[in-house]
Amino acid sequence: MNTEQRFWNPVLETMPLEKIRELQLKKFRKIFDWAYNHSKFHRSLYDKAGIKPGDIRSMDDIRHVPKVEKSMMRDIQRKDPFPYGDALCVPLEEVVEFRQTSGTTGQPVYQPDTWQDWDWWAESWAFILWAQGYRPSDRVFIPFGYNIFVAFWAGHYAAEKLGCEVVPGGVLDTKARILKIQELQATAMMATPTYVLGMADTARDKLDIDPSSLTIDKITCAGEPGASIPTTKKRMEEAWGAKVYDHAGATEIGAWSFECTEQSGGLHVNEALFLVEIEDTETGEIIEEPGKRGKMIITALDRQAMPCVRFDSKDIIEWSPEPCPCGRTFRILKGGVVGRSDDITKVKGVLLSPSAIEEVVRGIEGLSDEFEVIVDKVGDVDRITLKIELQPDAVSQQESVQRQLVDQLRLKTNLGYKLEFHDYGTLPRYDVKAKRFRDLRKNH
Ligand SMILES: [Zn+2]
Repeated sequence: MNTEQRFWNPVLETMPLEKIRELQLKKFRKIFDWAYNHSKFHRSLYDKAGIKPGDIRSMDDIRHVPKVEKSMMRDIQRKDPFPYGDALCVPLEEVVEFRQTSGTTGQPVYQPDTWQDWDWWAESWAFILWAQGYRPSDRVFIPFGYNIFVAFWAGHYAAEKLGCEVVPGGVLDTKARILKIQELQATAMMATPTYVLGMADTARDKLDIDPSSLTIDKITCAGEPGASIPTTKKRMEEAWGAKVYDHAGATEIGAWSFECTEQSGGLHVNEALFLVEIEDTETGEIIEEPGKRGKMIITALDRQAMPCVRFDSKDIIEWSPEPCPCGRTFRILKGGVVGRSDDITKVKGVLLSPSAIEEVVRGIEGLSDEFEVIVDKVGDVDRITLKIELQPDAVSQQESVQRQLVDQLRLKTNLGYKLEFHDYGTLPRYDVKAKRFRDLRKNH
């Protein structure tokens, strides 16, 4: 491996856009045929829509292929072949990996992978890590529970594939992980934004260690959108004295995107391995032009055991008008994943996205990293309560913090809030993915 090389796969990452489209069409036809011929679930879905292998001749034809929803995958699982159901395209004997989704709502979806799929997971993560400056000289610490969720397992194997030295921080507690990073002089780590901020607090409050004095110089985030929210990214980078990079992926899709070292304000879609379409949520049309938001419909072009073909991910995204200065031709999603279509809710008739509140809270000095948003009704009127904490050294500034909060929230979200200040350390702390937004109106 030439460590001076800028790209993990120079041919694919700099391919002209029209060549990428040709490659995507060719691969889409192949995965569609594979799903049609090997899974009863897909065949019956496509037969009902009157689409057969051979019918897809252009990118436009792809738009007529029915979408798959997560609820459909939930419905078929725990049936034959157990436990995956009839979307499984290979004999059970070929399945070597079990994972399940970590979503905060509903029954998790089971995900099988073959050894070839597992190799594909590591390869797609290798694009990510190389683009974020990981090289064989890195010592990568992974503070992750190594459990039934896929996230950092694939990052672990990809780091090994690159030639990095990998330290699995499995069952250690947070304090022990920080001390191990210090002892081994680790240079990189991978974690959720919530955990990156939580580790920094633990280092300072419990160990009297300034995390920026440690040797970590790059952090790969996944699992939550924080690393693409400028104010949250800034908090993480300042706390650790490190570059923080975003990645969005999903168990049932794969590792489909990455931020590169240029930090150009978005995520590259790995267009050699995935096809991303943006669907207008009102009209159902596919959006090609930059700057217009819609939800992501995604196809994993090479995944075999349980294919992901036109999966309705519910992620809200938009194309950036600018190519990235890094030289990759893979298109950029401006601001990363900017929301979830199930999270974006109407309050008092105004669309509210939880990440807009996060951006405001994390941008105000004197507030801790924790917050909680609760939407409920008083009589017929919607109410949003925002619970925040002041840093211990900012208690005397409550009035000015409150004023900034009210102004910024009004400016960024067009809504008024009931503010509740809590003592530092009293709001719930989360280890991995935080659940900071609750809409109690949905229970009625
Ligand atoms: Zn780039």
